[in-house]
Amino acid sequence: MDLRRALDLNPQDPLAAEQLASHLGVFLVGPHDIPGMDAVTLWQLLFTDPSSWSALTISVGDQPVIIRNTEHAKTRQQSDLMHELAHLLCKHEPSMVLQISEFPYPLRDYDEEQEAEASWLGGCLQLPRPALLWAARRQLSEAAMVLHFGASVDLIRYRRQVTGVTRQLATFRSRR
Ligand SMILES: [Zn+2]
Repeated sequence: MDLRRALDLNPQDPLAAEQLASHLGVFLVGPHDIPGMDAVTLWQLLFTDPSSWSALTISVGDQPVIIRNTEHAKTRQQSDLMHELAHLLCKHEPSMVLQISEFPYPLRDYDEEQEAEASWLGGCLQLPRPALLWAARRQLSEAAMVLHFGASVDLIRYRRQVTGVTRQLATFRSRR
């Protein structure tokens, strides 16, 4: 992915979702930035389970705007924002556009395949394979990686697993 190069970042440099969003011309807001809207109202309007919403993308005219759930942990916000940015990068066409009566903007709904693709790409953006190898070679602890990459422990473990980095290092160590 040439995005890091465009941002003048090495693979092991942290990529904040805010930085990527600004590069892509996407606005990030919290529920409080929407007139007449706070997190609780948004929950009530959009979902029955308040913890279920993470981030959602709306279009204001042609301008994509991501509303983030500012109640969630910073690391979770990062991965949720990356997920939404990944939908935009993949130019996913919503399978359905929902209009909820009291919410002023249409909501996008993606199909399962698009969700999987966005989750995959979001993880790659935040923790590319070379970054995982870099951290492993320096024997960075999970806590150090959380701090460096702004990524959650869950995402770190997941990415190590799916990229085969865990396996690769185990083989490497057994050879020494
Ligand atoms: Zn999604």
